[in-house]
Amino acid sequence: MGKILTNEPLWNKTTFRIGGPADKLVYPGTNKELGQWLRSGEVTCVMGGGSNLLVSDAGVRGVVIHMGCGFRDVSIEKPGDGSVVVFAGAGVSLTGLSGLLMKESVSGLEFAYGIPGLLGGALVMNAGAMDGEMKHVVDAVTVMTFEGEQRTLTGDECGFSYRSSSFPEGAVVCDVKMILKEGEKKTINKIMRANQAERKARQPLKYPSAGSVYKNPEGQAAGRLIERAGLKGVAVGDAEVSGKHANFIINRGRATARDTLRLMKIIEDTVEEKFNVTLEREIRLVGEFDG
Ligand SMILES: Cc1cc2nc3c(=O)[nH]c(=O)nc-3n(C[C@H](O)[C@H](O)[C@H](O)COP(=O)(O)OP(=O)(O)OC[C@H]3O[C@@H](n4cnc5c(N)ncnc54)[C@H](O)[C@@H]3O)c2cc1C
Repeated sequence: MGKILTNEPLWNKTTFRIGGPADKLVYPGTNKELGQWLRSGEVTCVMGGGSNLLVSDAGVRGVVIHMGCGFRDVSIEKPGDGSVVVFAGAGVSLTGLSGLLMKESVSGLEFAYGIPGLLGGALVMNAGAMDGEMKHVVDAVTVMTFEGEQRTLTGDECGFSYRSSSFPEGAVVCDVKMILKEGEKKTINKIMRANQAERKARQPLKYPSAGSVYKNPEGQAAGRLIERAGLKGVAVGDAEVSGKHANFIINRGRATARDTLRLMKIIEDTVEEKFNVTLEREIRLVGEFDG
C-alpha cells in the first residue's frame, strides 16, 4: 500500500523545518491505496508540500497521508478555441506546473509561480498572489471522501474564499480540472519573472518559514499591523518576526513549535491590544499543542 514509514520525522517535510514525528507516514500512489487508508479509519492528517504548516513538537499520532509521491499526472488539451483544459494531480508542484504551462504557452497560472507546495494544498488553501487565486482557474476537483468514496465537485462546490475552501470534512483532494487559455510564452515568462523578483525583494526567503502567518484583515495588511505594533525582530527562542516582512515568522535554526506558537500569541495579543484587530491565522497547526 505505497510507502509506509513508522515514527517518521516531519520537520524535514515542512518549509518551517519544525515538528516531531508521525506515528505512521504514508505515501499512497493511487486512488485505490488512498481509499484503503481512508477506510481504515486511522488517518488523522493529510499533507502536501508542508509549506503552510506548523507541526507540533510532539508530532502527529495516527496515520499522516503525504500526497507527494503519486498523483503527479498532468495532461494539457487545446481544443482550438483559445481555451486550454489542464488536468493535474494533487501531488504536482504548483510552481513546477506553472513553469510547465509557460513552456506550453498556456496562460492563467502565472500568479502561482513561486508559491511553494503542491497542487492539492494550493486548492485547499485557495492559494493566491498578485491578484490571482486558484478559485479563478478551477473547473472541477476530484476528492476522496473520508469514507473512501471518489466524488467530483464543481468549482462552486469547493467553497473557495480568501485563503480558504470548504471541501467535505476529512476529504482528500486527488486531482483538478482547470480551464486556462492559450498565451504567449514570452509574455507569460516575463510576468512570472516579475512575480518572482517581487517575492525575492519582499520575502525573507533565506530562512525557513511557512509564508504569511496571518490573513490580511479586511482593508488592511497583517504585516503592516505587526510592524506598526513594533514587533519586527521580536523573538522567542529561534522563532523570530522577520525584519524584512513582519507577517513572516522565520526559523533562525532551532525554533520549536512551542517557541513559534508563543511568538504567535505575543503577536496576536499585541495587535489586538494596540489596534483592536483580531488576526486570523493563515498557517495551519497540526498535532497536539498545549495551551
Ligand atoms: C516562502 C513562502 C511563500 C509563500 N507564499 C504564498 C503566496 O504567495 N500565496 C499563498 O497563498 N500562499 C503562500 N505560501 C503558503 C503555502 O505555500 C500555500 O498555502 C500552499 O498552497 C500550501 O500547499 P502545501 O502543498 O504546502 O500544503 P500543506 O502546507 O502541506 O497543507 C496545507 C493544508 O492543506 C491540507 N492539504 C494539503 N494537501 C491536501 C490534499 N491533497 N487534500 C486535502 N487536504 C490537503 C493540509 O491538511 C493543510 O490543512 C507561502 C509559503 C512560503 C513558505
